[in-house]
Parts: sequence; structure tokens; C-alpha cells
Amino acid sequence: MSDPEDGANRVELVSHFVRHKNAMVARGDFGPLFEDHYLHLMQSGQPRLNPAQDTQLKDALAGLVLHLMSNPRDFTTAWTLNFNEPPMNLFVTGDSEEGRVVGRVFTKDVKVHPRPLFYSQTSRPRGKDRQSTVEFAGGDLFSAVEQYYATSEQFPARLFHLEGDKAAMVTAHPDADLEWFAQLTAEKVAQLDESEELGFLERRSYHFACGCRLITIVRVLVNTFGRDPEKVFAGQDTLQISCPRCAGTFELTTTLFAEALILLDGAKADEK
Ligand SMILES: [Zn+2]
Repeated sequence: MSDPEDGANRVELVSHFVRHKNAMVARGDFGPLFEDHYLHLMQSGQPRLNPAQDTQLKDALAGLVLHLMSNPRDFTTAWTLNFNEPPMNLFVTGDSEEGRVVGRVFTKDVKVHPRPLFYSQTSRPRGKDRQSTVEFAGGDLFSAVEQYYATSEQFPARLFHLEGDKAAMVTAHPDADLEWFAQLTAEKVAQLDESEELGFLERRSYHFACGCRLITIVRVLVNTFGRDPEKVFAGQDTLQISCPRCAGTFELTTTLFAEALILLDGAKADEK
């Protein structure tokens, strides 16, 4: 089985503490990550996104990475933004340990609500999963993330598009200079290195990848339909299976299925 992460472009995010303002800034250039996202759209044969969806999905990917960068390394976060006009679910998920981020747009059979909704789910290996749902207004993704932060997160955040595919997020910590924070603009954020005293915090890398494997998909099939190929394949030789997170497609043959069962049994024996 080939590793779908081979050759993925890594983007480097850097965070700094803004001294005397009690704020944190996370910045990165998302161009290479967007390239892999386009490549994946093409390879998985997904329908073309219209310009509005394209911008929203790219902003959601950048926003999620900036959010991950501004949180502890063991965070795994998934966001679903539910829009009603036109009906659309925008899904992005990622983590900092593996540095993976992936996302897609759903437009079929989308259940709508009176107002657009922002669902967030965060899990950490130690600690409880955290879920929240907030209403938001408008179609701008960065603004949606700011509205989510205002309601659900400890600190307020502001997101900015910088030159090219660069973007930044500034979070205001307790005792932050809120007047300075409210008056920030993209131009001011682009010049933070000159105007403010910055203290380096962290560097992390992220890439576009789902991490789905045929073996994981087979495990789900076995849990649902059992091990009998007759039941799993229902008389067919091959199955086309699509990953719900990234829409990547896998072709499963009866031979591959048999090999995967042996691998799964081996993994179980190792666990004992
Ligand atoms: Zn996937």
C-alpha cells in the first residue's frame, strides 16, 4: 500500500508572544498546503468547487491550522460549518502531533437551520472531549472563526489575510492591550516584526493529508458487515469505497480484503 503522505508539502507555522501587549501571533504561508488540497480534489474526482466554496474551504483550512498552532500540541480539532443559503456543510479537521489537516465541502442532503452554525469538537489524549455549537453570521470564514472564538474560547482572536497565501491569527491573553488588539489591521499585523517586540514561542509544521488507509476502511467494514466476503461484497468482485473525511476513494478487491483480514488478525495478536 502506498503512503498517501509521501511527497506532501509541509508548511511551517511560527508563533510569537507580543511583549507589552500580552497577545500571541501565529503566522504561516499556506500556498504549498493549498497546492496539495487542489491535487487531492483532482485525484479523488470530487466535483469542482465554485469560487465562493473554494475561498471558504481554503480559509477554513488556514483558520484551523492557525487555531491548532495557538493551542497545546496534543489537540485534535474538527470543525463543521453549516450554511443555509445555499445549503452547505464545510468540514475541516486536523492535529498538531502528526501535523495533518484535511477538509471538504458537502452540498448534497445538507440539513439546514435558521442560522448558520459552527460546530467544534476537540479531543486530547488525556482529558475530556469538548464540543460546542455557536451561531454565526455572514459567509466569511475568518469572521466565522472570530465569532466562534468570541463565544466558545477563553481568549478572543482575530484572523488576517496577509500577502499571497499568508495568514495570521492574533489571540489576546488576559491583561492584553485590548485597544491595540481592536485596532489591528492586516497592514499592522504584516509589520509586527518592526513595530512590536516579539518573543519567539514555537515552530510547527502542517501538511494536507487525511491519514486514511485501506486497512482502516476494512476494519470499519468488518465491524459493520462481519468477515464473510459474500456479505461484504454482496456478489461483486470489487468495492469502491469513499473516505468520509477526505472523499478519497479506495478500490477493495476480494484478494485485498483477505490480505487485510490477515493483517488485522496480526495486529490483534500483537495487542495481546
Ligand atoms: Zn480520508
